[in-house]
Formats: sequence, C-alpha cells, structure tokens
Amino acid sequence: MSDNVDVLVLGAGISGLCLAHRVAQAGRTVLVLESAAQPGGCVHSQREPAGYWFEMGAHTLYNSYGSLLTIIGELGLRDRMLTRRKAPFRLLVDGKLRSIPSQLSLPELFASAWHAFSERKQGQTVADYYGKLVGRRNWKHVLAPLFTTVLSQPADNFPADILFKKRARRKDIPRSYSFAGGIQTLTDRIVAQPKITVRTNAQVRALARTGGSFVVEIASGDRVFAQRLALALPAPEAARLLAPLAPDIATALVGIQTAKIESVGVVAEARHVRLPRLAGIVPIGDTFFSVVTRDVVPDEHLRAFTFHFRPGLSLDERIDRICAVIGVGRSQLACVATHATSLPSLALGHAAIAEEIDRRLPASGLYVTGNYFGGLAIEDCSLRSAKEAERLLAETRPA
Ligand SMILES: Cc1cc2nc3c(=O)[nH]c(=O)nc-3n(C[C@H](O)[C@H](O)[C@H](O)COP(=O)(O)OP(=O)(O)OC[C@H]3O[C@@H](n4cnc5c(N)ncnc54)[C@H](O)[C@@H]3O)c2cc1C
Repeated sequence: MSDNVDVLVLGAGISGLCLAHRVAQAGRTVLVLESAAQPGGCVHSQREPAGYWFEMGAHTLYNSYGSLLTIIGELGLRDRMLTRRKAPFRLLVDGKLRSIPSQLSLPELFASAWHAFSERKQGQTVADYYGKLVGRRNWKHVLAPLFTTVLSQPADNFPADILFKKRARRKDIPRSYSFAGGIQTLTDRIVAQPKITVRTNAQVRALARTGGSFVVEIASGDRVFAQRLALALPAPEAARLLAPLAPDIATALVGIQTAKIESVGVVAEARHVRLPRLAGIVPIGDTFFSVVTRDVVPDEHLRAFTFHFRPGLSLDERIDRICAVIGVGRSQLACVATHATSLPSLALGHAAIAEEIDRRLPASGLYVTGNYFGGLAIEDCSLRSAKEAERLLAETRPA
C-alpha cells in the first residue's frame, strides 16, 4: 500500500505533535507516523478503568511555557487545567527520607556562595558550575542526585546553560499544572484534530528521495510519499534514517548520545502506603534515578508512584524495590505499569552540533525537531517545533 501526503512527520512525541499542530493550524493536512502503539513518547499518562490516572513520563507543565500555552489556548484546554498542589521532594538516604536542606553542609555552602557573582554557565558542565556554587561535597551528596532526578540520568556532564532557563511567567496561569486525565490530554487533543492523522505501530524503516518527493518505508512494507518531511525522532534514530539522504546532518546527529529510562508505575490504596505525601523522591546511590508521585493532584483513595529506573534490574526486582521504598506488600498493589523512553545525554559542545544541523537543514529540504536543540523540557520541544513549522510554512505551499 502507498499513500501520498503533503506534510509527513516522523515521531508522535510532543515535538512531532507540536509541529503537526502548527502546520495544521495553517490549514495544511499532516500525517504523523509513530512506531509505538500510542502517540506521546515521553508524555504518557497511564489511565485506569475507574478514571484514575498517573504519569509514566513528563509530569509538570509551568506557566513559563509560553509557546506551549499558545497551543493549549488554541485547543481550548484552559478549562481542563489542574493546579498542582505544593508537596516536598525528599532525599532517600540509607533507607530514610530526609529534607534536602538537612543534607547540605552549611559552612561549605557559605564558603562557596560568592562564586554566584563571578561564575558564568557558558562553557561549564553542570558539575563544574554548580560544584563551585555549593562546594564539591554538597554537589556530590545533594545536588548531583537532585540533577540526576530532574534529568533521569547522570547529570555531571550536561552543559550548565541548557538547564533552568529564565522564561517569562504568565500570571493568569497556575505556576505548575497538569490536566484532567494527565498531560496526555494535551497530546490526545492535538491528535484529534481533523487535519492531523496519526498512524501508530508504524515504525519507519528507511528514507529515500525520488523526483521531488520523499519516500518513507514502514516496517509493514507500506510506503508513504511526501512533499515535505519532518523528523521528530530520538537523535540516534534520526541519524540512522538520514544517513543515506543527508549524510552531513546524520554525522552531526551521531554526536548526540541518549540514555534509556525504564519506568515502573504502581498504584496502591492510600491507607496501605506508609510514605508521607510527597511530590517525589531523590535517591542517593540507588537502582532508580527518581520517583514521581501523584500526590500533587491528590485522590482521596488512591496513590501512585512512578519509579524511573537505571537499566539492569528485572521487573520482579524493580517491584520488590518499589514495595520496600513505599512500604506496601506486593498484594496491595492495585496496578503495575511499565514504559520505556530515552532522553538525550547532552555534553559540552552540544550547541555547536545543533548549529551545524541548523546550518545544513535549509539546503536539505528537511525539517528536524526534538528535545536536543534548546533543551529537554516540553517548552523547548514546542519552541523548536514552532521554529521548524514556521520555516516549513514559509518555504512551501501545498502541492
Ligand atoms: C521520565 C521523564 C520525565 C519528564 N518530565 C518532564 C516534565 O515534568 N516537564 C517537562 O517539561 N519535560 C519533562 N520531560 C522531558 C520531556 O517530556 C521530553 O523531552 C519530551 O516529551 C520529548 O519529546 P520528543 O517528541 O522530542 O521525543 P519523544 O517523546 O522521545 O518522541 C519521539 C517519538 O518517536 C517515536 N519513534 C522512534 N523511532 C521511530 C521510528 N523509527 N518510526 C516512527 N516513530 C519512531 C518514538 O516512539 C516516540 O514516540 C520528562 C522526560 C522523562 C523521560
């Protein structure tokens, strides 16, 4: 079977869907091919039959996500926003929950704080920059685990200037929020638009160009012909597919490493769980990178915990560790869900890679978006997709 489409997007994560949305808003029709059984990628709200939901991936949106808020407004989703309640993150130290300030060495913190006035983030890794600001011991024992939790992978080598960007906040929007049904409500709404079609279980196997069209081969053997082609895939997959078509861009993409994140989410009746109400847990030297709870959008009867694991353990071993941390027996778990994703592991010099890709793109006739341009946050994905959609719309008219 073969299809002929105007705009084709590969990958239905938030980057691909934001790009599809922007192009559809301009009146163009878009087909999105997605290898997984459902769209969303790192955005995955696990939904249980009784209407309870919890996040297996991204969990928080902010009022500083201006580009995303434009899309939220266009989709009429403001009335489905849920304000996230305040709850603390706790460190898990030798099996005990501890507050973050309690683990900081205050003398070291005060002795190092003056660096805040002289140090610049540019050209420094997260470990170098924040290590100077808080002191090496504080970095190793408190901040490195915190950053590891934020990034779901070891954080030391990330460029310091790619994290925690200053963005204008919208005062009319809750500081942090989700949606009824979880963040996936946003991706569901994008996908439901009449000008957007998402084909799931459609793994892209190869790309080619014939005449003025791109030819995309799917694992099923089907082919799709497209006038315009946008890639919104993890960098290694984009590199593999682009190697025959745009070798210079593929070579640049090869420089972007990724980390695997294997998540296990569980639900238990609130009365069985021994943990106090928390936004999340930051482990020190454990088998998992982080725990995110649903306590910030509390439910009277149920609580949910998603553990983002380091690679290696079996599911059984992971469930044992989860039960030990949250203090419930296996038989008290009402639900166990799994989800696997990847995130870029950015390093110093990353900006030059992104610039190189951008230099090569206009001549290639391709569009590339993802979480490896401005940063990993959903707002960074939305901003990048808006930029690529704008370029696509400016360069092309429907065939
Ligand atoms: C655990 C976790 C928590 C996070 N929390 C937050 C948060 O709270 N707030 C925030 O702003 N950000 C958060 N992030 C970051 C953010 O969610 C991600 O960076 C963003 O969602 C990535 O979107 P993407 O579309 O670029 O990539 P992905 O979501 O990885 O999407 C890429 C898509 O391409 C598909 N694909 C891959 N290969 C092929 C192929 N050959 N053919 C077709 N399809 C293919 C994949 O299946 C996937 O759906 C979190 C990330 C993780 C993992």
